[in-house]
Amino acid sequence: TETLHIVGGGMAGSEAAWQAARLGIPVVIHEMRPRVGTFAHRTGNLAEMVCSNSFRSDDDEQNAVGLLHWEMRAAGGLIMETADCHRLPAGGALAVDRDPFSEAVTARLRDHPLISVTDEEVTELPSSGHWIVATGPLTSSALGAAIAAETGAEALAFFDAIAPIVHAETIDMSVAWRQSRYDKGETEEERTAYINCPMTKADYEAFIDALLAADKTEFREGETAGYFDGCLPIEVMAERGRETLRHGPMKPIGLTNVHRPEEKAYAVVQLRRDNALGSLYNIVGFQTKMKYGAQAQVFRMIPGLKDAAFARLGGIHRNTFLNSPTLLDGQLRLRSRPNVRFAGQITGVEGYVESAASGLLAGRLAAFEILGRALSAPPPTTATGALVTHVTGGAEAKTFQPMNVNFGLFPPLEDARGGRRGRRERYKGYTDRAKEDWQGWLTAQDAPALV
Ligand code: FAD
Repeated sequence: TETLHIVGGGMAGSEAAWQAARLGIPVVIHEMRPRVGTFAHRTGNLAEMVCSNSFRSDDDEQNAVGLLHWEMRAAGGLIMETADCHRLPAGGALAVDRDPFSEAVTARLRDHPLISVTDEEVTELPSSGHWIVATGPLTSSALGAAIAAETGAEALAFFDAIAPIVHAETIDMSVAWRQSRYDKGETEEERTAYINCPMTKADYEAFIDALLAADKTEFREGETAGYFDGCLPIEVMAERGRETLRHGPMKPIGLTNVHRPEEKAYAVVQLRRDNALGSLYNIVGFQTKMKYGAQAQVFRMIPGLKDAAFARLGGIHRNTFLNSPTLLDGQLRLRSRPNVRFAGQITGVEGYVESAASGLLAGRLAAFEILGRALSAPPPTTATGALVTHVTGGAEAKTFQPMNVNFGLFPPLEDARGGRRGRRERYKGYTDRAKEDWQGWLTAQDAPALV
């Protein structure tokens, strides 16, 4: 059997190796640590957790990340099995004892007869053989340069600048309205592509005060080295002058409030559609280093967003990631070089759990390909499927930024399951449907080879 090469033994690479080896495929993991380090990793262990020790919510009925846990457990995932073994008390969250966890993942992979681990840094994109690149947010600079040479520099980012993303259904449309600035656009859809939230002078002044007073996180040492290219956080713009935002992302010109056409807004916050489903909107230009708690408080001061639910909050981090909607196919293969798949954070998923899930999928897809059997990606009604569908096509390519799993990525429920029910029932509807469809996807793989 042909060998599968995996570059990077982090969350995604470790899970991909496990899945492929379970299907009988020989695997080589190329992990550069401990020989070459990153600014965040401390050890030479595989699947090291670089920051928090949490896999977030373990609720598989009401939470999309808990549902990812469930799907990975159902698929015999090593990352979940090991996390469960090294679980720490944390209420409804899955907190993990990080060192024993990554030591155990390392031992399980190193002990597997089909898996070997080398400590080389891969610096080129291979042109033959079966490869998965899972080198994460801190991909080494040599490999980053090789990827950029293949994809074009503008299709590989070295920083994320994430504006908060809001669930569209939680925006108060009796306050906000749909309109593109100066009604620009060829079609009605384009002319109404933005949702606008108007501010009076008093709203604006209070908002600027809150922005300046909010708790912020600092960049870590070494994090910005050579990369940060001036994508300014909103609070930094506000520090430069109280009027800066009103002349920048919050300028009120070219917009008329349909609810109060006679009133000129003092400032306007714009939200832009973030996915093809139209269920998510990002707040334009609002990348920020404010702490999460502060963000929710400050952003809910915006008229129309009082009850906003956030699919993800904003941030700016060192993060190598591809413009996956343009570069990858639905099988996570690089369109220009289909012998190379990508998995994990570098594909634009965000988080330990999401990265592991993407690795699980890439490992299975690669293994089936080597076995000469067809395997389709899981349906978008599953958490893994929704996430991968988003990054490989559902997201807006032009403004693509990394994404956590959330119910806004799921196709709407048909009426019998979701309809006009409340949020809890809807989430239960999503998770019930996902479990059934995920189980179906797994069962189909046990069927005799079709190809
Ligand atoms: P990684 O787990 O980083 O694995 C990639 C591996 O590839 C690394 O082991 C690296 O050494 C190796 N590698 C890189 N380049 C090469 C090369 N050229 N050749 C060979 N090997 C290479 N997510 C959360 O859910 N919670 C958090 O608290 C959190 N904190 C984070 C803090 C920081 C500072 C960063 C950068 C990210 C954080 N993330 C967090 C985001 C992300 O989910 C994790 O980084 C996650 O580990 C990503 O999984 P991955 O497998 O894609 O990458």
